[in-house]
Amino acid sequence: MRFQTATSKPDIYLLLGSPIEFTLSPLIHNSVFQHEQLNALYFAQPVTPENFGQAVVSMQKLNWCGANITIPYKQTVLKYLDEIDETAQKAGAVNTIVNKGRLIGYNTDVLGFKRSLPDDLNRDRSAVCLGAGGAALAVVVALADLGFSKINIINRSYQNTVSLIKKISPYYPKLELNGWKWQELTPDCLKNRELVVNCTPADFALPDFVHNDAMFQETRIVYDLRYGLKSNKLLKKAQLNQVEQVFDGLEMLIWQAAYSQKIWRGRLPDIALIKEALKQWG
Ligand code: NAP
Repeated sequence: MRFQTATSKPDIYLLLGSPIEFTLSPLIHNSVFQHEQLNALYFAQPVTPENFGQAVVSMQKLNWCGANITIPYKQTVLKYLDEIDETAQKAGAVNTIVNKGRLIGYNTDVLGFKRSLPDDLNRDRSAVCLGAGGAALAVVVALADLGFSKINIINRSYQNTVSLIKKISPYYPKLELNGWKWQELTPDCLKNRELVVNCTPADFALPDFVHNDAMFQETRIVYDLRYGLKSNKLLKKAQLNQVEQVFDGLEMLIWQAAYSQKIWRGRLPDIALIKEALKQWG
């Protein structure tokens, strides 16, 4: 890495969110900067809801180069931006900002999730998305772009399910997007699906009465966007029920970070290098 002198200010990139103490993003991005010998720094800045808007605006005033936005601000951030790209508009959520004098928002979760999926998806079968927050918006847009025609949303607050459906439906008139009410779920809700994706921070984002070992029967893929968990109840349950493929969110994390770098600096970084850097973490 080139070291900072009195005249060389590093390019600053940051992550805004809360909580973010366990984030791997600084490790990923600083490894890329170091490998490419750039005078650039990425740091994670926890921010409260009261200070979030000010933090985004300061980024522009201080001439920082870019940012990632994470839980729970991916939707809140929209109102502070000057421009939003098409994918982020469809998702109604932004996870990457570039400062070009104007703040421009993108959603690399959509790209990262798509890139992390296997090639042999059967788009004629249905998909289930657990959750209706920022990550769920990205996952639904990705699945709709990939050609899934039927997606079911299961979320604790039905109001947020309705809001997700209202946001996304206008962009995909042919997509059948259904919301299932939390209290009306049955053990069959996850059965016989191509793909079930957990888009919540919860280990088992279903009501207690739905816990049932047979619920993944004939489901082909279970994907949890969370990563780095020694014990992942959802994925373990899926494996016990002979689900063909299970994924955690590490591959998506790597690709969403790589696409953020592409937006900030014009090219994808070396993915093998990122994977190597993540070995330090475990
Ligand atoms: P968010 O916008 O705050 O949404 C959280 C969602 O989880 C909401 O739908 C919420 O339901 C639901 N939820 C929260 N606690 C729950 C519980 N105890 N039981 C059931 N549902 C619960 O967060 P987000 O940005 O979508 O992130 C969600 C998860 O995805 C996080 O763990 C994040 O780290 C992960 N993620 C991973 C990647 C990756 O690259 N691998 C990328 C993006 C996100 P209500 O609507 O009822 O509140």
